[in-house]
Amino acid sequence: MHDVVIAGAGPVGLFLAGELALAGCSVVVLEREADPHPPLAALPLGLRGLNAGSAETFYRRGMLQQLLKASGVDAATVGADPDADQAPRPRSLGHFAGITLDAADIDPAALAYRLPGPAMDGFMTSLEAVTGVLTERAAALGVSIVRGAPVTAVTQDEQTVTVTAGAQDHPARWLVGCDGGRSTVRTLSGFSFVGTEPLFTGYVAKVTFADPHQLPMGFQLTPTGMYLRTPLEGYLGMMDFDGGTFDRTQQLTCEHLQTILRRVSGTEVTLKEVHLASSFTDRAMQATTYRHGRVLLAGDAAHIHSPLGGQGLNLGIGDAMNLGWKLAATVRGDAPDDLLDTYTAERHPVGAAVLDWSRAQVAAMNPGPNAPALQHWVRDLLRTSDGTTQVYRRSSGLFHRYDLGSEQPLIGRTAPDFRLTDKTTLGDLLLDGHGVLLDFSSQQRLSEQAAPWKDRVRYIHGRPTKDLGFEALLVRPDGIVAWADTSAAAAGKELQSSLARWFARS
Ligand SMILES: Cc1cc2nc3c(=O)[nH]c(=O)nc-3n(C[C@H](O)[C@H](O)[C@H](O)COP(=O)(O)OP(=O)(O)OC[C@H]3O[C@@H](n4cnc5c(N)ncnc54)[C@H](O)[C@@H]3O)c2cc1C
Repeated sequence: MHDVVIAGAGPVGLFLAGELALAGCSVVVLEREADPHPPLAALPLGLRGLNAGSAETFYRRGMLQQLLKASGVDAATVGADPDADQAPRPRSLGHFAGITLDAADIDPAALAYRLPGPAMDGFMTSLEAVTGVLTERAAALGVSIVRGAPVTAVTQDEQTVTVTAGAQDHPARWLVGCDGGRSTVRTLSGFSFVGTEPLFTGYVAKVTFADPHQLPMGFQLTPTGMYLRTPLEGYLGMMDFDGGTFDRTQQLTCEHLQTILRRVSGTEVTLKEVHLASSFTDRAMQATTYRHGRVLLAGDAAHIHSPLGGQGLNLGIGDAMNLGWKLAATVRGDAPDDLLDTYTAERHPVGAAVLDWSRAQVAAMNPGPNAPALQHWVRDLLRTSDGTTQVYRRSSGLFHRYDLGSEQPLIGRTAPDFRLTDKTTLGDLLLDGHGVLLDFSSQQRLSEQAAPWKDRVRYIHGRPTKDLGFEALLVRPDGIVAWADTSAAAAGKELQSSLARWFARS
């Protein structure tokens, strides 16, 4: 019997599998598709934007350089010299509702606690590159990945969950559904999935245009929808506000796509050939809880929304980073009673905020008399430093804060990448997925308190190269600050209760 079965070898299932295996769990991933290289995952249609929060997550597990290489991205455009006095202004920003943002408008002073390091910015990649790197890591850690194995049945009792794929049953202690937006695990396990119905059908296609000069590059908001061209050869994106009524089981013909393109572009452009195409909608739904007994959900299985603003993959990677160490500690019998419940408590609000973020963009693009007024107002807002900085805060994945019951603004947020005078970084210390207690005091004041936790929390004493005003920090395995001390003298009860909250054995 495995500790955990994961349904779905998409990016979220693979990331989670790696986290669990890193923490010593036995894991099997059951993937419906036999082909590990689906054409939709490769460029151009597999193009995905990872935000700075995801770059940081890959960095903290030692995969950033490999992913940058697989994505053809220069590491210098993502990182910053750790010896620099301060963190650089973010470089890439994207768009809100097709209205592009200028990173030069961001106010770095409003972005507290950033320290220069290798993972400062997001970057463009492909699903193929992400799943390639994650598959390699999972395999190296001993995860077994079974392809051509669609999950068709799930039963659970108090001790076990049994997952059927093909003719085979896979008993395990836990099941995580990472099987995408139309999750079978979610349906079979009785989760409720609630939200809003779609307004549009979206399309991405690789095409050959007869007369490409008719369509300018970039996001084009029109009175009837939106289309997008990028420098990637033949890439076409479109949004058609048809009420999301297109039957997605239908084949995407050249004729259909041309009709839509002519409608949304208001041109007579001609498509010579469609090489590959896919459709989606802006249906925005979320599971009301991410756990039912021994079954959990992560990634698109837990939440779906339109791809506007490029958040779904980032959100799912965040789910996996949050869930991995908690589920592993539960499997090992190393977790406080309610640790697993904090997964829904922390990640559900983050997911709900992303759903709203994408809804707001749909509202600003929905053709009709009101959208131009809203777009005008958004453009005005984005000409201000505060407006652009706020959009960056919402979309970068670095500034959400879990409510851990403290007023201290860093607690509940991702930790800055402290660098010690011996050149060790926090990223180095998190590589093996342990919690870390950083003691910056001159006399190792916390070493005695840390001693009883040493099999679960690494105690590190050192001086940081930059002073952010902390004498000590307790960082969870997912890089979130659980406790921070501004004066070592006050450390004591609060540190012990935080250690107990996250690391005590039940
Ligand atoms: C056009 C487009 C552009 C996007 N751009 C971005 C972007 O720029 N940035 C971003 O962050 N996000 C983006 N997204 C969203 C992102 O692609 C998804 O959120 C992400 O792929 C979700 O990962 P996942 O692993 O949860 O699910 P998936 O990638 O859907 O993987 C699920 C896996 O489960 C398998 N599966 C399904 N059913 C079963 C079953 N019954 N049994 C076993 N296996 C099963 C599937 O075959 C698949 O391999 C975009 C989405 C689209 C459509």
